[in-house]
Amino acid sequence: MATNNIVVLGAGVSGLTTAYLLSQDPANKVTVLAKHMPGDYDIEYASPWAGANYMPVGKEGSAHQEWERATWPALKEITDKHPEAGIHFRGTLIYNRTKDQESATGQWFSELVQPNPWYKDVVPDFKPIPSSQLAPGIDNAQEFTSVCINTAVYLPWLVGQCVKNGAVFQRAVLKHIAEAANAHHTGQKADVVINCTGLSAKTLGGVLDEKMHPARGQIVVVRNDPGPMVSVSGTDDGEDEALYIMTRAAGGGTILGGSYQKHNWDGIPDMNLANRIMKRCIKICPSLVKEGQGIEGLDIIRHGVGLRPLREGGTRIEKDKVDGVSVVHNYGHGGFGYQASFGCAYAAISLVKEVLQNKSRARL
Ligand code: FAD
Repeated sequence: MATNNIVVLGAGVSGLTTAYLLSQDPANKVTVLAKHMPGDYDIEYASPWAGANYMPVGKEGSAHQEWERATWPALKEITDKHPEAGIHFRGTLIYNRTKDQESATGQWFSELVQPNPWYKDVVPDFKPIPSSQLAPGIDNAQEFTSVCINTAVYLPWLVGQCVKNGAVFQRAVLKHIAEAANAHHTGQKADVVINCTGLSAKTLGGVLDEKMHPARGQIVVVRNDPGPMVSVSGTDDGEDEALYIMTRAAGGGTILGGSYQKHNWDGIPDMNLANRIMKRCIKICPSLVKEGQGIEGLDIIRHGVGLRPLREGGTRIEKDKVDGVSVVHNYGHGGFGYQASFGCAYAAISLVKEVLQNKSRARL
């Protein structure tokens, strides 16, 4: 059997999902190289900080929409068949205020809050909430069943699946993407390198993608469990502040968010912002605390900040050749890296297949 030597650079949700799918084919010998691995918490590593849930934001007719559409069945299957992966189904409520539509958060959520969105046929139990039941200031709302991922369980689960399939994990900090081709665990040169370096694609030699920038997300993780997840199109506290609540599977706590602060690299939680987040979460969802309580009723596990790896012009899934090395890029997933993870990995893998086919033709 001909074998394919493949290096995946990056062990966030993008790299791990791509490596997981590739490693299912015994012909693929996969090395995952990364500076940060599951278990690490670092401002350069977005994946552990995510909520993470499935709240589609891709515009109808876009590749982004297709990636999200393609990801739901995979997440559903893992949730149904692998409870140890740390994903559960959760009811979710989406509230729209039309006055938010021009704000950074409103733009980010514009597809999610549509009264008649494309994803209504993807997720189960979608239904509009009658206007007679809406609180003042809310213009339309809907509910459906989504998932919430405990990233502290799911990322290691992906590592475990890859290792079970024979993939090898190695720590490395690369200065240049082409170096990855010489780091395959067999000692042979890799046939293809998959670039899943997230925000660091901005500074990685051979890539230096100036379109990359952060959208800073601040969160508070609490032990309180209010029930359904909630997302709102915006807040009255600033146009780059957000309002969402999601309870992770398997004891992962409840994430209170948040913010969507573009070009802000600050990794330290801002306690004034944290107070605003907690206050507005309790206001929209009083069941977070006991009757009559304010933020003193929240049992805080930790404050956190992650940088969403946003790319002007959209996610880059593309073939490239750098210093003679075949590269497939899969980075720039902004605030949707989990909910588009499988769709993006399928797209990247179809490009990997093209590279491998061209190589085997060249060998004949
Ligand atoms: P990362 O997780 O950043 O991983 C990059 C990897 O590349 C790391 O392993 C790093 O060490 C490695 N690397 C980089 N450079 C080098 C180098 N030079 N040498 C070696 N290794 C290198 N998404 C959702 O779908 N749903 C949500 O609910 C959601 N909520 C979020 C909430 C917050 C607060 C934040 C911050 C993000 C959220 N996201 C959510 C977005 C999601 O977290 C990201 O899109 C996703 O984690 C990006 O994953 P990635 O694998 O591309 O990058």
